[in-house]
Formats: sequence, structure tokens, C-alpha cells
Amino acid sequence: MLDLEKIRKDFPILNQEVNGFPLIYLDNAATSQKPQVVIDALNEYYIGYNSNVHRGAHTLADKATGKFEDTRTAVKEFINASSTEEVILTKGTTEAINLVANTYGRQNIKEGDEVIISTMEHHSNIVPWQMICEEKGAKVKVMPINDNGEIIFEEFQKLISPKTKLISVVHVSNVLGTINDVEKIIEEAHRHNIPVLIDGAQSSPHFNVDVQKMDCDFYVFSSHKVYGPTGMGVLYGKKAILEEMPPFLGGGEMIKEVTFEKTTFNDLPFKFEAGTPNIGDTIALKTALDYVNEIGKDNIARHEEELLEYCTAAFQDIKRLKIIGTAKKKVSVISFLIDGIHPFDLGMMLDAKGIAIRTGHHCAQPLMNRFGIDGTARASFAVYNTKEEIDQMVESIHKIVARF
Ligand code: PLP
Repeated sequence: MLDLEKIRKDFPILNQEVNGFPLIYLDNAATSQKPQVVIDALNEYYIGYNSNVHRGAHTLADKATGKFEDTRTAVKEFINASSTEEVILTKGTTEAINLVANTYGRQNIKEGDEVIISTMEHHSNIVPWQMICEEKGAKVKVMPINDNGEIIFEEFQKLISPKTKLISVVHVSNVLGTINDVEKIIEEAHRHNIPVLIDGAQSSPHFNVDVQKMDCDFYVFSSHKVYGPTGMGVLYGKKAILEEMPPFLGGGEMIKEVTFEKTTFNDLPFKFEAGTPNIGDTIALKTALDYVNEIGKDNIARHEEELLEYCTAAFQDIKRLKIIGTAKKKVSVISFLIDGIHPFDLGMMLDAKGIAIRTGHHCAQPLMNRFGIDGTARASFAVYNTKEEIDQMVESIHKIVARF
């Protein structure tokens, strides 16, 4: 059992009224709130030892560098990478995918080749592949899904061909909550020697991730969805693949030696980290990961599963409400529609009661097209959410439905 009262006190933002009502924050798939320890870590950096990393010959720079590299070690452990050389610090999931598209992609995708993604991708795992494929005269192919929001594995198998250069697929859908069987997809891809990138933006906050067990070639996630700061994220890549990849951005940090004639590049992971990084936020990410580890990922998963079940059951009793995304394996993300009420209006009416949900296409327009809809309302739960908050939301929706 989690000590929810204590956990909620860890997040100062939750203790406020919005529009005259206690805040009920159910937009965690967009970004999660930050515990006080993470905010403190940011403050401590700027107040106590703000300094540039990897190049300083003074005490503050040494401390900043040490703390910065401690985060890399914490990330390595968080996803069970085999070494810190495999952990590239980025601005977020989006930048990490663009990095792979612009390096691995530009190097390996040729005219006529193919990249496979799925119907349920976030735009950040669609557009970078479209851009590189357009540049190269290659093609993006799409794994279809069934009406529950699950990838149809047999159809995916049919898409694989000798032209397939990479498969990039989301671990957990930010709209449907579906947990994809990525191990099975990776196994199939590797039978054909095709590398796989896993978009972990929505899996990293919810359950334990082991990149070695999964055997993915790349795994990406964002700090701000795992209770860490924004503007910070991770690209994991297998060392052998990263070593073969050309650099992404050029500049300081990523070089060994520069002359006007020729530049040699730094070793992993610095080859992919040009310029002054996001130091304070990187340092605070370790604090966020420590916080998650302290509560325990399995405990978080169990609590969120309970919330998912509880909300799904309560939604069954709301007239005209339809859940979009009914996969067998889901995380605590529920998209829904109410016949006769536009999701945007529903969101506004709930906001008037202090209840924050998300409405719209959730950066997944092709997925909306698959379901023949423009958007959904979406409630998504984190470790600090409670059944009482779900009761409040459900009660408000009942009243709204009765009124319309
Ligand atoms: N992929 C998924 C599944 C997401 O949910 C998101 C963000 O919502 C992203 C990628 C992009 O993450 P970021 O905006 O942090 O780069």
C-alpha cells in the first residue's frame, strides 16, 4: 500500500484551488507534476554550484560535472543499460528520435527503402521518419491496429521486407493506453536483422523498463513525464550501433580534435552531446528517478492499475460514454467520448470544477483518423492520484451528461 497522503504532500502544486475547487490533476500523460525534492535539486544547482560541465578546472565545475554524470549512471540503472556510454542525454523524446533519424537514418536509409511505424504513434515518431524518407526517396509503412487499439501482429509481419531498414514503435500509446508487446515485435525484427527503436515516453513513467531484456536497439524517453524537469530526455542505444553512427549536431563537447582541415569526434556518449547541455535539469532528473525508485516502480504500477480499473468501471455507468482504447494490456490512460458533447466543451466544463484533463488529438492525428474521430477527452493518472479524485471527475461528468 502506498502512503498516498505523504506522496501528495511531496507535490506542492497539488495543494491549490483552481477556479475555486481543489485541483484534480489528471493530465499526467502530457506531463507529470514535480516533487519538492526535484524543485530543490534545481534550486540547489543554481544557488550553490551553477557551472559548466566537462571543462572546468575549479571546484564548482567539478561538482556540476560529477552530479551531471551521476544522472547518466542513474538513467543507466533506471533502464538497465549495460554501460553509461549507451546513455545519451537529449532535450527529450522528440530530440532523441530526430537524432536517430538524422544519424542512423541518414546513414542507412537509401532510395526505395522502408521504415515501419505503427498507427498509434505520436507525431514525434512519425514526422522525423517522413522527413528522412522524403529526403532519401524511401517510404514509411504503418502497422495496422484493431478496434481495441492493439497492433495486428500478423499484418506487421507482412510489412517486413528486405527493404525494411528500421522499425520504430511506441511502447505505450499516449492516447489508448495500450501496452504494445514490443518484445515480440523486436524478436521478429531481429530475425530479419532489422533494428528497433522503442518510444518509451509513456512506458518509462508507469512500469519497470529493462532495455537489455527487451533487446531493443534504441529506447527514448522524456524526463518531464517521470516527475523530472522539462527540456531533458534520454536516448539509449546499443553501443555497437551508436559507435557506427555519425554525430548529430556539431560543436563543442562532441569533438576530440579540431583543425580547419579536419575534426575527429569524441567517444560515446559525448559524440552525440554537442554544446553546453541542460545541466540543472539533467541533475534534477536523477533526483526524480531516485524518488520513483524510493516509492518503487512495481508499487507505482500496482496503484495506477487500480486507478485504471476503478475509472474504467465507473465510466461504464455514464450514459453515452465510450472508451477509445480497450486493449487487454493498458496503463492508466483513458481516452473517451461522450455522444453529443464535444471533448473540448467537456474539458472546459471539468476545468471549471478544478479538474484538469486533456482534450484534442493528443499529437496523434493519424490515430484519430483510424477511429474516424477528431479528438478525445483523456484522463491519465499518476502515482499521486486517488480514487476520490476519480469519483469527483465521474460525478461531474454525470452532471454534465444530465444537463445536455
Ligand atoms: N511519444 C509519446 C508516446 C508521447 O506521449 C510524447 C509526448 O506526449 C512524445 C513522444 C514526445 O515527447 P516530448 O514532447 O517530451 O519530446
